[in-house]
Amino acid sequence: MTQNQVLLLVDSLKKSFSPDHAAVNGVSLSVAAGEIVCLLGPSGCGKTTLLRMIAGLETPDAGRVFFRGDDVTAVPPHRRGFGMMFQDFALFPHKNVFQNVAFGLEMRGDSPAEIQSRVADMLALVDLTDFGDRDISQLSGGEQQRVALARALAPNPKLLMLDEPLGALDRALRERLMLELRDILKRVGVTAIYVTHDQTEAFAIADRVAVMNAGQVEQIAAPQEIFSRPATPFVAKFLGFQNLLEGMVSASGKVETAIGTLKPDSPLPSPGTRITVLIRPDAATFGADGDFSARVAAISFRGKFYQVWIESAGIRLMFEMPDAGSLRVGDAVRVSVAESGVSVW
Ligand code: ATP
Repeated sequence: MTQNQVLLLVDSLKKSFSPDHAAVNGVSLSVAAGEIVCLLGPSGCGKTTLLRMIAGLETPDAGRVFFRGDDVTAVPPHRRGFGMMFQDFALFPHKNVFQNVAFGLEMRGDSPAEIQSRVADMLALVDLTDFGDRDISQLSGGEQQRVALARALAPNPKLLMLDEPLGALDRALRERLMLELRDILKRVGVTAIYVTHDQTEAFAIADRVAVMNAGQVEQIAAPQEIFSRPATPFVAKFLGFQNLLEGMVSASGKVETAIGTLKPDSPLPSPGTRITVLIRPDAATFGADGDFSARVAAISFRGKFYQVWIESAGIRLMFEMPDAGSLRVGDAVRVSVAESGVSVW
């Protein structure tokens, strides 16, 4: 990312609500014009607090926020020109769809003709052209969410902030709306910061994902990069990888673990160093030879693949296989692990 593409720059932001716990503990990141960045992490990791500091709704204890190169840290929220959309997107229940979308335009004094035309454009964008006269109570959850998006986009915000905007909807609706949402944001070309604790949502919507843990960003990268190269054990665990174990680098340049010796395809630190090892779920094959012995503990059919749990030296590992063949619970197996499926930290 070159410097002139950077729209938003967050520099070492910190915020504590109590003396012994930092909600955001030194976060720096930049967002390019037109980019969608998701803040992803477990509940309480500081996503909302970071977003609120960028919006100006929360004053940082330290650090600065720059927008197009200008320091906006002390600029009040309404003068930043950013748009917001929250989980309880709080549509005005006594206004109809048109009036809800028109709200921000009226507040800033657009003419009735401008408002008419802009609201029509926004309703077309979210595929609700004929819904202008409807009451909010006559809309489904998904339709309400689209009205909220149209309302947030209508004033043409310089930056759109979305905090769990699909959080209140059921799983099936979210799956559909997350694709629609990305499509709309990309068509408009708006720069967006999107908070979620849902990995699927972050991967579907973001150009880049910032994975947060305990007030810090552990990794910021494209979804594919995060998935193929999680930067820390926390990121791997948060993505749902299960096979994490302790190891030590051996003199022969391999990794000694409780289950046996493994060889990663990445460079290792010096012998004797304690490391964490990830074995990816697609890395194993069972056969007569292998890197270690194990017992099949459970087999679960998952539709497109089988989940096979094995136990070795008291450690349970989970592998995903296209076919469980003649494997049975209780079988003794030898397990081979592909080097490309082993990561270390
Ligand atoms: P969630 O996904 O549950 O919304 P989050 O990642 O957005 O979580 P934050 O809401 O930013 O996390 O909260 C980070 C930490 O700061 C939490 O420990 C939270 O309890 C604390 N916190 C947030 N806002 C306040 C506040 N106004 N007063 C006191 N503590 C707060």
